[in-house]
Amino acid sequence: MPHHPLNEFPYWWEGVSHPTADISPEEKVWDIVIIGGGFTGLHAAITLASSGQDTLVLEAGRIGQGASGRNGGMLGNLLIPGLDELVEKYGAAKAAALYREGEAAFKYTVNQIDAMGIECDLATPGRLFPAATSKHLEQQKKSVEMRHRLLGREEAVIDKAELAAELNSPLYYGAFAQFDTGSLHPGKYAAGLAKGAEKEGARIVQNCRADRIKRTLSGFEIETSKGWVRCRQLIMATNGYHEFLHPSFFHRIIPIASSMIATAEMDPSEVTLLIPSQKSMSDSYKILNYFRPSPDGKRLLIGGRPSIFKTPLTKQADILLARLKSIFPTMPETSAEYVWTGNVAYGFNSLPHIGQMDGIYFASGYGGSGVAMSGYLGQKIALKMLEKGGADTAFDDLPFETRFYYNGQPWFLPLAMIGYKLKDKFGI
Ligand SMILES: Cc1cc2nc3c(=O)[nH]c(=O)nc-3n(C[C@H](O)[C@H](O)[C@H](O)COP(=O)(O)OP(=O)(O)OC[C@H]3O[C@@H](n4cnc5c(N)ncnc54)[C@H](O)[C@@H]3O)c2cc1C
Repeated sequence: MPHHPLNEFPYWWEGVSHPTADISPEEKVWDIVIIGGGFTGLHAAITLASSGQDTLVLEAGRIGQGASGRNGGMLGNLLIPGLDELVEKYGAAKAAALYREGEAAFKYTVNQIDAMGIECDLATPGRLFPAATSKHLEQQKKSVEMRHRLLGREEAVIDKAELAAELNSPLYYGAFAQFDTGSLHPGKYAAGLAKGAEKEGARIVQNCRADRIKRTLSGFEIETSKGWVRCRQLIMATNGYHEFLHPSFFHRIIPIASSMIATAEMDPSEVTLLIPSQKSMSDSYKILNYFRPSPDGKRLLIGGRPSIFKTPLTKQADILLARLKSIFPTMPETSAEYVWTGNVAYGFNSLPHIGQMDGIYFASGYGGSGVAMSGYLGQKIALKMLEKGGADTAFDDLPFETRFYYNGQPWFLPLAMIGYKLKDKFGI
């Protein structure tokens, strides 16, 4: 087997970027400044700039520096809490309205990609959610039935034998299948959005970190690594990278790391042997594995939380590769060629949040299901600012909670992870 050096950056960044000129933000009062050049910020920028707002995007690193350039590219319509959980908490009508936002986000994303002509390897062959235990498969049946009853969704539950035709792994007991969802190349998607935002007239300044926000009588002043910037309205689109910039946000947003590897190239027929359906998969372990073929069909990608405590990327790559081998015992000998980690963001109720705090607009908290939702809510923030129709969402009235014990550092995560690990060990 040829030896490949391990690249400690996302596979999605290979050969893909939004051009960086060494520019600074112009000295003027912008209508709107957006902090964060991920899917949330870029979709907001596109909507605002196309409505004639003088819009500036400040990005601390490169476009897609955060989760938007680091995710699995799985494009779905589910929320993190199950529908049953939401029915219990909010009642059937509200739970259904929340879940319909997932469907709306998916449709919005596919339509935008199409309308903007973004070439990002979008494919919608459906997705599979393999069940790690027979009990999980039973739970999946109930969830599919409930989504059908309350939302009219068409999904299927397939048994081990049916799954074998789609996924060549002895590990799973069956799966639930979605038909119209799919995947994309997040690097190309982010770069395409940035290009689209600039085409609409937005200004994007990369490598420009916002360090301090000051509220003024007429808007905001922001101290950045490239000087001061003034604006009338401000959007915080920093999601899991809050960097302790503003206490209202870092007291409510829990950043959680998730890591991925991409293997070295294989013969595409070998990848097809392992995942004949070419679909993206997220399994039902509490510490879940999500995996898929690369868009060119030559690599396997897998993500998850490889360790409870902070661990070097090289070690994380070893653990994720070992997981891939346990899912695919017949996988040809291969190595990890790319490894990277990124932050997802959770609120305390695990649902997305959108609105305004201290005069600052925001959308955040999509967990690991944000590829579609972040852009959808980014556009919704813009519509709210423009006071245009279509701005309402079912997430509008959800309280964005904090906890007295939370200061922005999720010190309790290792404890939760130990609990999940035990549940996985005992098949709970
Ligand atoms: C490893 C991983 C796998 C994932 N897989 C999936 C998946 O398969 N499917 C799915 O639906 N979701 C997935 N997600 C979640 C999804 O990627 C996110 O929900 C989504 O990208 C969030 O977009 P965003 O724009 O809100 O945040 P981000 O993309 O994180 O953008 C925030 C940006 O703000 C910038 N920033 C922060 N502070 C400052 C500052 N002070 N000044 C200037 N800029 C600043 C950061 O550099 C960053 O670029 C995954 C996430 C990770 C990390």
